[in-house]
Amino acid sequence: MPTMVFALKLKSMNEKKHDNNERGLTIHMPFSELGLSQSIVRGVRAAGYSEPTAIQAQAIPHILAGKDLIGTAQTGTGKTAAFVLPILQHLQEKVGLRCLILTPTRELAAQIETNVREYARFMKVRCAVVYGGVAMGPQIAALRSNPHILIATPGRLLDHMGRGNVRLDGVEILVLDEADRMLDMGFLPDIRRILQHIPKKRQNLLFSATMPAEIESLARHTLANPVKVSVGPTATPATNVSQFLYPVPHHLKMAMLLKLLHITSYTSVLIFTRTKYRADKVASALNKNNFSAARLHGDRSQSQRSQALHGFRTGRYRIMVATDLAARGLDVEGISHVINYDVPETPEAYIHRIGRTARAQAVGDAFTLVSQDEERDVYLIEKHLKRAIPRVGVPDFEYSAPPPPKLAPTERRHVGSVSGQSRRSNGHQRNDRKPQSKRFHRD
Ligand code: AMP
Repeated sequence: MPTMVFALKLKSMNEKKHDNNERGLTIHMPFSELGLSQSIVRGVRAAGYSEPTAIQAQAIPHILAGKDLIGTAQTGTGKTAAFVLPILQHLQEKVGLRCLILTPTRELAAQIETNVREYARFMKVRCAVVYGGVAMGPQIAALRSNPHILIATPGRLLDHMGRGNVRLDGVEILVLDEADRMLDMGFLPDIRRILQHIPKKRQNLLFSATMPAEIESLARHTLANPVKVSVGPTATPATNVSQFLYPVPHHLKMAMLLKLLHITSYTSVLIFTRTKYRADKVASALNKNNFSAARLHGDRSQSQRSQALHGFRTGRYRIMVATDLAARGLDVEGISHVINYDVPETPEAYIHRIGRTARAQAVGDAFTLVSQDEERDVYLIEKHLKRAIPRVGVPDFEYSAPPPPKLAPTERRHVGSVSGQSRRSNGHQRNDRKPQSKRFHRD
């Protein structure tokens, strides 16, 4: 688009009335005003979007203009379409592999691929996706099918590069998605190696929920005069998530989880634990108590992970237990509740977790079970949020039930059994716990 026309479009766009732009809600303007082609606008409409979100309205014109861009956006703001749509426009008349999207996890890679296919349904753009944990064969075939876009996790991409399965010398656009997470997962050296094989002259788009020093430095060395686009303050939770803390003795967490699941009206629930072992433990305890729960964590095979995610997406499982790593960036429609069985280790992880509910304008609830030894982490989360999260109690929950007698050797067998807790029910409730409001405990 000529600069003049682009400037006019941007001006008219900025004059539009923003509907709480701060938090990534939609902007009252049609997608067509962003300068996107008819076939892309049709694809977006078919995906069910009527108006762009704030990050889309802000980022798309800059990306269309060929600028490098750093996008800081909280989860669920529609950032995937913010980069995919202008990329599709760029690729319309192209041949060969022109765009590389690097992302930290297999689930995110698969999710981006689904989005690309959805938005590009009226176009001839092809994409391939490669990630670890599955056979190389089908990926090699996909790489040979002449894709325009390659979505990859860094490790597996390096494997393919090492075997000569893919060449990146035609890449014109590089996307680093969830850059802070790629850093956390130790992918930075891999990314640097991959960068050496991409033409220096290219457009760079970097998206990250937070901007740790290492990512700032990567951005400084990789991007040229980037435009910065930010939706809401960095790493703040979506406003439409109601958050509550449930203080509970450590040994009663499972009993409380079961109680919460019994008294809460939910569509689907994502439960987070700190470790893979605890995710397994919680899922088995739930299954024993007649809640059918899927499990998603890094020790599961790729097919088990895909099955769990598919089952959760399609409603076969209304509950999924996951670790942070596996659930990063997960986009499942209609998660009404996130339950932190364990308090996450960092405020950023907390924000990511609760961002799994209330995706794109929906509302959701986030419950966090807090034992005494986790109070320090809660303190840091509240400090980061600059506000206290309401502490609530569960009516008729026996907070004073003793721990099971021989915890260590029999923990596997006993965990999840509510009987130990409910047998001694005497209606006792600690004074400092207020009964939970009706809204969160409807039947
Ligand atoms: P993302 O932040 O890219 O993971 O997107 C979060 C969710 O918002 C996904 O379910 C998208 O399908 C959805 N979404 C993205 N853009 C829009 C839009 N303009 N209107 C409504 N929903 C959207």
